[in-house]
Amino acid sequence: MEKTRKIKKVLIANRGEIAVRVIKSLKEMGILSVAVYSDADKNAKYVQMADEAYHIGASPSNESYLKIEKIIKVAKDSNSDAIHPGYGFLSENAHFSERLNKEGIIFIGPSAKSINMMGDKITARKTVEAYGVPTVPGTTEAIKDVNVAIEVAKTVGFPIMLKASAGGGGKGMRIVHNENEFESALNMTQREALSSFGDDTVYIEKYLEEPHHIEFQILADKYGNVIHLYERECSIQRRHQKVIEESPSPFIDDEMRVKMGEIAKNAALSCNYEGAGTIEFLVDKHKNFYFLEMNTRLQVEHPITEMVVGIDLVKEQIKIAMGEKLSLKQNEITQTGHAIECRIYAEDAENNFAPSPGKIEYLEEPKGKGIRNDTGVDSGSDVPIFYDPMISKLITYDKDRDSAIKKMITALKNYKIVGIKTNIPLFFEILNHDVFLTGNYDTHFWELYSYKFFKEDKEELELLKEIAAAVFMNNRKKDNTLIVAKQSNWKLNGRMGN
Ligand code: ADP
Repeated sequence: MEKTRKIKKVLIANRGEIAVRVIKSLKEMGILSVAVYSDADKNAKYVQMADEAYHIGASPSNESYLKIEKIIKVAKDSNSDAIHPGYGFLSENAHFSERLNKEGIIFIGPSAKSINMMGDKITARKTVEAYGVPTVPGTTEAIKDVNVAIEVAKTVGFPIMLKASAGGGGKGMRIVHNENEFESALNMTQREALSSFGDDTVYIEKYLEEPHHIEFQILADKYGNVIHLYERECSIQRRHQKVIEESPSPFIDDEMRVKMGEIAKNAALSCNYEGAGTIEFLVDKHKNFYFLEMNTRLQVEHPITEMVVGIDLVKEQIKIAMGEKLSLKQNEITQTGHAIECRIYAEDAENNFAPSPGKIEYLEEPKGKGIRNDTGVDSGSDVPIFYDPMISKLITYDKDRDSAIKKMITALKNYKIVGIKTNIPLFFEILNHDVFLTGNYDTHFWELYSYKFFKEDKEELELLKEIAAAVFMNNRKKDNTLIVAKQSNWKLNGRMGN
């Protein structure tokens, strides 16, 4: 396909908040938007916002949003020049990118080749290592023989992590504390990997202690120009999935920021990347940083970057897809102020995060300077059971971290959602937490502190605190790692990361 081509109409192969988000930028650019929807989404906000909308199938995503040929047919029938995949669904599907290329439809994202290189964790590790990017210590080979693998694990040093090479979404990884646990953990991880990803390839990574998850946003055009748009701190996680993100990271300094940014650009160059992408790093307590993986799409948490650098990432994606050269140079990108994002889910935070789909009877969004709510729902909207339960992303922006946190707490208080339960109560617990407020928290925040959340009874709380401390010490002695979460079924309503 030729390098430059005008885009006049874009089909959004997605739903919910991200479809709304993409349509907003398209409107500002004077580009027409085409929505596709399943049975469950026929009255959705994004469907109403789009210039055209087409039904593509039944509610389950494999009968609608994952139907490649159906989506291509709608793109052709509607004369769409390009498809924006959002995140999830087909966004990291190399075959989809390839099929669109064959059909002469622009995929707003990277080539199938880049997706393949980064989609498989082992291949990604090999690819970036060749460009001098440090990876988490471990292997770049699939485990074939358990005895050989145990020897490798000993050399890497326990605790280690077994990871599915095709894994994603926090699934297909398991911590192994010692040699004795290795074989059964390997069998379980391989089985899980096969059933979830259709590929039982598993490899070894050192299990980093007290790590921070810090990722860099990059933009790359078709001509080999790459810039980074600084970092996002994503260490507040539950079950390896992000809950709150902020930018800048309170953990790294400017010198490290520059260093990591340059390495992130190399990672993008290593796979000949084009478009918007994210390089994820784990940073240990000594501030050593290691490549974790690359996400070859727009990230859920992209708005916090947009707020601090003042750049619309969706517009940049579209300009790159049209074959424009990057208009900004690295030294023109500056981080100003501080942004935080809370992922709002239709889940009952006070009842073990049980799903809470249904009709939103009334919704009132928080509003004000520096408050942004990216959402796919309104008063009267249905939250279907079929898809990811995230209903909105609330973002606050202010001159510094303290002000952004304060603004978030007020915004959450002013967020009224009636009809379904949400995880909003969780954010008050985290945003008021001493450790969060210091800014020096790592990915173990949840395991260490969530047992306290939603506890009214002070006596019970004290008791739980003592037990958690004892468990923590015990586990430390035994294998030098933290597995407080293992105790979660006991008396804690299963709330701690199980
Ligand atoms: P996925 O592709 O499923 O999102 P990642 O490899 O990106 O998985 O890891 C998700 C999270 O799991 C990380 O943010 C981190 O909290 C934890 N994690 C992954 N690998 C390691 C590791 N080697 N050591 C410690 N924690 C890890």
